[in-house]
Amino acid sequence: NTSPSWWSYGELHAHLNGSVSFSTIEKLVARKPHLNIEHGMTAIRSGQRRTLDECFQVFKVIHQLVDTEEDILMVAKDVIREFAADGVKYLELRSTPRKEKTTGMTKRRYVETVIEAIRQCKNEGVDIEVRFLVAVDRRNGAEVAMETVKLAEDFMLSTGGLVVGLDLSGDPTVGHGRDFLPALQKAKNCGLKLSLHLSEVPSQADESELLLNIPPDRIGHGTFLHPEVGGSQSLVDKVRKHNTPLELCLTSNVKGQTVSSYSQHHFLYWYQMGHPSVICTDDKGVFCTDLSQEYQLAASTFNLSQEDMWTLSHKAIDCTFAPDLQQQLHQKWLELQPTLF
Ligand code: 5GP
Repeated sequence: NTSPSWWSYGELHAHLNGSVSFSTIEKLVARKPHLNIEHGMTAIRSGQRRTLDECFQVFKVIHQLVDTEEDILMVAKDVIREFAADGVKYLELRSTPRKEKTTGMTKRRYVETVIEAIRQCKNEGVDIEVRFLVAVDRRNGAEVAMETVKLAEDFMLSTGGLVVGLDLSGDPTVGHGRDFLPALQKAKNCGLKLSLHLSEVPSQADESELLLNIPPDRIGHGTFLHPEVGGSQSLVDKVRKHNTPLELCLTSNVKGQTVSSYSQHHFLYWYQMGHPSVICTDDKGVFCTDLSQEYQLAASTFNLSQEDMWTLSHKAIDCTFAPDLQQQLHQKWLELQPTLF
């Protein structure tokens, strides 16, 4: 990886359990040898592709390995340190609170433990600001979504702003967005920012029409929103009307086969339009990448200059869910600005 890390200071779309690195997986496997899990089951290496369904199977394997508070603490701290080592200065992590009967882990303790990891990293002087989005897994249905919103609201109020938002994710082929509207609306009303995975697969146009009316504060992927890939001008117009930023994850989409090649990635469509687009990793562990590599890929695939990439990275600040930090981040980015152009 030869890309300069100054391209990539802000990560806005990172799922905690998808971001677990090889070295952390090794530590987890050593804790649970009886599971017989090999690295090939938790990561999709260079040149390999999987269907989206197979990608979701990978998360199930990782969840088996990460099922205690100790695991969550280690995983979250390792992930935060790794992003910092890659040069990331602002990280929004997201994760689905999980209850594990066998280990006694509750959803509340799950979130508390992630918050503890963020605080410990801060106290240890890791040079990165971290905020947390509580994730709703669409596979768990509307009732759980509503409970998750209540949990997120509690933590937003009790953590002094570390919990900033709600994410809607999980297998896009399961359920319909209309079922989540009450929960999402409630989240928005109580001040949580909304990042919704939208149009990740071609069949989601109806759902996207509905969810874009909320409107969300950011869109995850949005792969099939535009007309060239079976979306529609009406969807694009909605996104444009609210100037809703897109979180774009090149390697994830290519390895998960929702995009046929890097050059076909919808980044170009939105970037050429001047629409706010933020390059992100999605699942750096599962897809064997990191943020500087994603910036490098975007630059080489779309022939963007170092200045273009710098500007892209700088504009990401305006898309963060931490308005209280934006001025400080602008200052930091400018201090780190290279004198290459
Ligand atoms: P966790 O929430 O357990 O920290 O991270 C893994 C979970 O994030 C997965 O089980 C899935 O719900 C969600 N996730 C990770 N990557 C993707 C993705 O590319 N698309 C969608 N829709 N969900 C994802």
